[in-house]
Amino acid sequence: MSVTATTAEVHTAFLRARHAQSEWERTPVSARREIMLAFHDLVLDHQVELLDLIQDETGKSRSSAFDEIMDAAITARHYGYRAARLLRTSKAKGALPLMTSTVVERSPKGVVGIIAPWNYPLTMAMSDAIPALLAGNAVVLKPDEKTTRTALRALELLKLAGLPPELMQITPGPGESVGQAIVAECDYLMFTGSSATGRILAAQAGERLIGFSAELGGKNPMIVCADADVETAARGAVNACFSNTGQLCISIERIFVHEDIAEAFTTRFRELTQSLRIGPGHDWTLDVGCLISQEHLERVSALVDDALNHGARALTGGHPLPELGPTFYAPTVLVDVPTDAELYANEVFGPVVTVETVSSHDIAVQRANASAYGLNASVWGKVLTARKIASQLECGTVNINEGFAATWASIDAPMGGWKDSGVGRRHADDGLLKYTESRTIAVQRWVPLSGPHGVSKQSYAQAVSTALKWSKRILR
Ligand code: NAD
Repeated sequence: MSVTATTAEVHTAFLRARHAQSEWERTPVSARREIMLAFHDLVLDHQVELLDLIQDETGKSRSSAFDEIMDAAITARHYGYRAARLLRTSKAKGALPLMTSTVVERSPKGVVGIIAPWNYPLTMAMSDAIPALLAGNAVVLKPDEKTTRTALRALELLKLAGLPPELMQITPGPGESVGQAIVAECDYLMFTGSSATGRILAAQAGERLIGFSAELGGKNPMIVCADADVETAARGAVNACFSNTGQLCISIERIFVHEDIAEAFTTRFRELTQSLRIGPGHDWTLDVGCLISQEHLERVSALVDDALNHGARALTGGHPLPELGPTFYAPTVLVDVPTDAELYANEVFGPVVTVETVSSHDIAVQRANASAYGLNASVWGKVLTARKIASQLECGTVNINEGFAATWASIDAPMGGWKDSGVGRRHADDGLLKYTESRTIAVQRWVPLSGPHGVSKQSYAQAVSTALKWSKRILR
């Protein structure tokens, strides 16, 4: 495979994947599980090499890179242990008690296409591939062009763990050619990236009538309640806003703080932001790395400049840091951002957050929900207060006294977006079952559902009506 796959090479990758899949489908789930558990260990054992590679490709901090190591291992372990239970034939209630016995089987979709972004190159290469493979599918993955090497190394480790050589294919290259070739041929499409691209791919998947799920952008709110501990909330906010240099779909870009503690919180948040250690290199003591590319730096700069030109104030940051490297940008806290500034409603995907003071928790909830996005939210305060607020938020995950990690790492629970933030879910049981087709098989005994031979249609209808009335009472 060349560095950029041609359309013909993508087609060949599908042929090979399909061929390997037909045998893999017959491989017992217990054997598939052993491969994923071996992969779990290999990722942890090779972590230094993987951390270096992820950092070299993305410029992120070492601790942000380590989040990916943890995530790959947790995903392999979780679905490795869970797959057999999810995939085994299950009983369902039959149409008529005793007379109909019904079971549900699960079969793989075939070849799952995965199109991934650059921000978490190991996580995004593996977190969807692992459940898809365990479900008996082959996978053709297109990583982002900026982060191909991490994906290729992860695949080498999967093969070292025992994955059949042709079962998962990586086809590097641009979205417009390689991505489109995958969309045209896959049996299910999993996409992570921008809402704009997600919209195009959803329409194409609809046209082909194939399954589709997508995790897209976010403009994630944090609510700091009147009863929050200021120091804890300010520390949490720093992590929630600036992890992975803010290039994280679930990171916080909007903070709504109750007026009772607004001054104390904002002052401490600014101080802690200014104390972040920013820079290049593999050193564990650095907190924040650089942005992915010059193009992205220009986009982030332009959005912040636009906000400043519209009257916003930068409490800290608001400019690039060329002395540290060509794509470093200072962690930025903005206040007084008017609603007509472009970043007020649109995702920055960088180390930039707006802080707004609100006079009540109800107003905080209204502002948080006044967004086209609905991916993640965070609430800080006493659990009783925060819990009530959490249930009113229109988004897929809400973290209480955490920024984003508590829900993401709760892999047994669904993860995904409302509104423009996504379609379908990853994680939880559906994160594996969506890569299967169900087959319902029902055995009918003694009496056909259309009525016994020799009984008039009318008498049968009366008997069934009486049975239905009794069933409603009995089968609760
Ligand atoms: P993007 O949509 O431009 O690209 C994502 C992937 O899609 C890349 O591999 C790209 O090559 C491919 N692609 C682009 N156009 C395509 C097309 N027409 N056909 C097929 N493939 C195509 O996104 P990006 O700017 O690289 O990534 C940042 C965005 O991703 C942000 O909006 C961010 O919020 C989102 N994101 C979401 C999650 C999540 O889990 N919700 C995770 C990471 C990133």
